[in-house]
Amino acid sequence: MLKKEILIIASLVFILTSCLINNHKITKETKVLMDTFVEIKAENPNQISLDPVWKEAERLIKIFDNHSKEGEISLINKNSGVKPAIVSKEVSGLLEKAIHFSEESDGIFDPTVVPLVNLWKKSAKTKTLPTLKELNYAKKNINYKKIRIKGTGVYLPVKGMSLGLGAIAKGFIVDKMVNSIKELGIENGIVNAGGDIRAFGKREWKIGIQHPRNPAKVLFVLKIKNQSIATSGDYERFFLLNGKRYNHIIDPRTGYPADKSISATVITSKAADADALATIAFILGPKDGIAFISKIDETECVIIDPAGKVFATSGLLDEIKIKNISI
Ligand code: ADP
Ligand code: MG
Repeated sequence: MLKKEILIIASLVFILTSCLINNHKITKETKVLMDTFVEIKAENPNQISLDPVWKEAERLIKIFDNHSKEGEISLINKNSGVKPAIVSKEVSGLLEKAIHFSEESDGIFDPTVVPLVNLWKKSAKTKTLPTLKELNYAKKNINYKKIRIKGTGVYLPVKGMSLGLGAIAKGFIVDKMVNSIKELGIENGIVNAGGDIRAFGKREWKIGIQHPRNPAKVLFVLKIKNQSIATSGDYERFFLLNGKRYNHIIDPRTGYPADKSISATVITSKAADADALATIAFILGPKDGIAFISKIDETECVIIDPAGKVFATSGLLDEIKIKNISI
């Protein structure tokens, strides 16, 4: 029998809270979900059970998991080129948000990038690069503009097209978990799903961003209050071939893993947006990424390039003192 291996992705951040939780009863619960650690910290003097929050998270994970046969994303993919799939409002709503980010980023963010993602997953296993023919074939089926949404019906009109919301769903689930915690009457807390974080309430939380080449080390500390933060990096899921690192975030323009950044962190109000924007900033790299994020209201980012140079939007320049890190 095959041993089922669970790959747990170390969080890309540390939440530094010790100085903030004095005199308050904080409930802290952690579960392994979505191949990572999901943690809730909530000011919870009445010790209200967080079970409904975990139930909500697990319900959504099933829906969005494109490997699960019962999932709605799988249903859309199974019916590509055949017929529209009827999905929940959550899926059609998040897909619309994803398409919004595709439009804003000129296709850098593309939920139909799955054939390329799969090709590179195969490469990671076989330790051989995809051929040009394979890359071109996969690229033919990638185009978010072809996704058709009518009410809660979602249709991929070409057989071979495939959808994945992996670059935004984790953040969305964090947002939904926060809503569900608030519904319990809890006013202050934080949810962290492997580095996709949302803080709610009036507390300020200090988030330590990891050094991309020495993840035990905190590189710098960013403060958030009633905001979200997400980091995309090349150091959690990658493979090495002939000394070169190939990570899991694909630049649809080239068909290759994005290589202009080693880490990109975005702060904005919602976790779904932070998640998607961190992926976009990572692919764009410092020059275009900082310009792109600067145009978005109340949104900041830090990007580190492969040489270890640190770039930040104007709102973070006071907090980010380091200009270079050792690689
Ligand atoms: P993580 O899930 O590790 O935090 P991201 O949020 O950046 O990282 O999402 C990466 C995942 O998103 C990949 O594993 C892949 O499934 C998907 N993906 C890769 N490239 C793109 C892209 N250009 N647009 C949208 N999704 C992508
Ligand atoms: Mg993301």
